[in-house]
Amino acid sequence: MTKERDKAYIMSGMTWDEVERALEKVEVALIPVGSHEQHSLHLTQNCDTARAENFTKLLAKRLYPKVIMTPVINFGLSEHHLSFPGTISLSPETLKSLAKDIIFSLKQHGLRKFVFVNGHGGNDSVLNVLLSELKREQPELEVAYVSYNDLAQEVVDEYKGEGEAVHACMIETSEIMYLAPEVLKKDKTHYDQRKDIPYRYSKYNKGPIKRTLDFAEVTEKGALGDPRKANIEIGEEMVETALNKLADFINDFLAN
Ligand SMILES: [Zn+2]
Repeated sequence: MTKERDKAYIMSGMTWDEVERALEKVEVALIPVGSHEQHSLHLTQNCDTARAENFTKLLAKRLYPKVIMTPVINFGLSEHHLSFPGTISLSPETLKSLAKDIIFSLKQHGLRKFVFVNGHGGNDSVLNVLLSELKREQPELEVAYVSYNDLAQEVVDEYKGEGEAVHACMIETSEIMYLAPEVLKKDKTHYDQRKDIPYRYSKYNKGPIKRTLDFAEVTEKGALGDPRKANIEIGEEMVETALNKLADFINDFLAN
């Protein structure tokens, strides 16, 4: 029997009448968003999708029976990884349309509050535009999105080393050890030396001037950082910090 604390409404595994009963209590739909892109030699390409999905499952357990989790959007904006075989990217328009179609469908079932739980920073710009458009087009809905790693920034800052940029690095690898260990191919953990192009990356890319670089321009194998230093305790601290903050927000979101 499922223990009370392990219960969660996961839409993909429910029949329609189970969903109908759940919706008597559910007030918020959680929509995980990932990507399908290269994560260097030691993480499989579903990394962001697996993180977003498993993180959202933990959140759905914490907030049962007030939330329901939809299927994960398993592609995102990954144009900057397309030099690596296997990366599949949506266009911004496709991701936005897909997200709107999911919301349109859920609205038919009576839901009015939605939270996109994003595991891939490349999706941020589209999710921002999506929220603006929905505010204009469907003001009766309340929609939020969060790139949940940002909620654990203090943990990242405490542990991150020089050049860590949360892609297939110590930070992301630690998180995957805690959230989705099947994504990690341990035997392939290695250090990926960043290419020496400081004027194009280090100096300008972190500041207010934005431009898009392909990962092949700045790395050999696709990682930004040193995954050899990853450990599960850092991953746990990050995930639990982010879960606490997001659960607090959603409780407020429910109450208002
Ligand atoms: Zn990632």
